[in-house]
Amino acid sequence: MRWNGIIEAYRRFLPVNAKTPVVTLNEGNTPLIFSPRLSEMVGKEASVYLKFEGLNPTGSFKDRGMTVAISRAVEKGAKAVICASTGNTSASAAAYAARAGITCAVLLPKGKIARGKLAQALICGAQVIALRGNFDEALRLVREIGESYPVVIVNSINPDRIEGQKTAAFEVMDVLGDAPDFHFLPVGNAGNITAYWKGYREWKEAGISKKLPRMMGFQAAGAAPVYYDKIVRSPDTLATAIRIGNPASWKKAQMAIAQSNGCVDIISDAEILAAQKWLACNEGIFVEPASAASIAGILKCLGKRACKQCPLADEMRASLLPRPVKIVCTVTGHGLKDPDVVNLQGLKTVTVWPTVDRVIRAMGL
Ligand SMILES: *Cc1c(COP(=O)(O)O)cnc(C)c1O
Repeated sequence: MRWNGIIEAYRRFLPVNAKTPVVTLNEGNTPLIFSPRLSEMVGKEASVYLKFEGLNPTGSFKDRGMTVAISRAVEKGAKAVICASTGNTSASAAAYAARAGITCAVLLPKGKIARGKLAQALICGAQVIALRGNFDEALRLVREIGESYPVVIVNSINPDRIEGQKTAAFEVMDVLGDAPDFHFLPVGNAGNITAYWKGYREWKEAGISKKLPRMMGFQAAGAAPVYYDKIVRSPDTLATAIRIGNPASWKKAQMAIAQSNGCVDIISDAEILAAQKWLACNEGIFVEPASAASIAGILKCLGKRACKQCPLADEMRASLLPRPVKIVCTVTGHGLKDPDVVNLQGLKTVTVWPTVDRVIRAMGL
């Protein structure tokens, strides 16, 4: 059957009706890719799967929430939408607004947006406003503007975004037949961890699934308000998509972690870069730095530096893991969005004169 996007696929779980004009770019239905090497590292009878959200139409999971938010905005007669963004929300909002034929304004922290994401927002005709401030300040302005002007906010403070994003959990359960035992993902504004948990709970309550996963959230060490339980005034990390110091869904993320008996932990920028390279070199999957945070999270849980409360590490040590254990790790955005970060990986091309001899030598044969 033809895939027509997440609203068509999961309509009865979403806040839409027969009259809602569906604005879709056929988002969702992203692959759940088995990771042989991560599975082997976790242990016998373990399966680790990567939900590759970088394969959505604009290259991140934001499209799932945006199709619902923009469809509902158009249903309400909105002529303009606005968002604050670390990059991917703006890329997605710009594309779906273009599709709907409405105006889109995006507020971005100046100089802190990956090059690909900025290009996406600009080419789709969004009004791109660079703010001399960070994401948290941009979101505060957007909230104020939304209160007094006729524009719809399409940040994840708009509940339609969370509703759309929970469909990723549905897709995981559709493929695996039930929820996994653990779900790893990066945490920035904390909308996605909130959305997955909502999706898993809804299907359990509806009797469609039997299990609930433990939610394992990872923040960059320089932007870890949930981990430290404290607002971070000047968040800092090269993973710009999670460079957030005062997340909108903070309380809901804490609830997801507590209710699921999961955990939140931090990883350094060096660990993020190492995980990005590891995933590309070992599994052939190129993700942006924020997405590599979830991989860095798994690698940390498996290593000697696992955090004290890490249930995965504890249970591995005590051989308490359910067997066979299933782990899903969301990789949230495509690596092509942030080409400049590859420079930080210290990778180089080799330049040679055009002779067979030189090429063979450069190949190391
Ligand atoms: C938005 C985003 C995140 C963070 O998700 P939140 O819902 O803000 O926690 C992580 N990775 C990528 C690629 C993103 O675009």
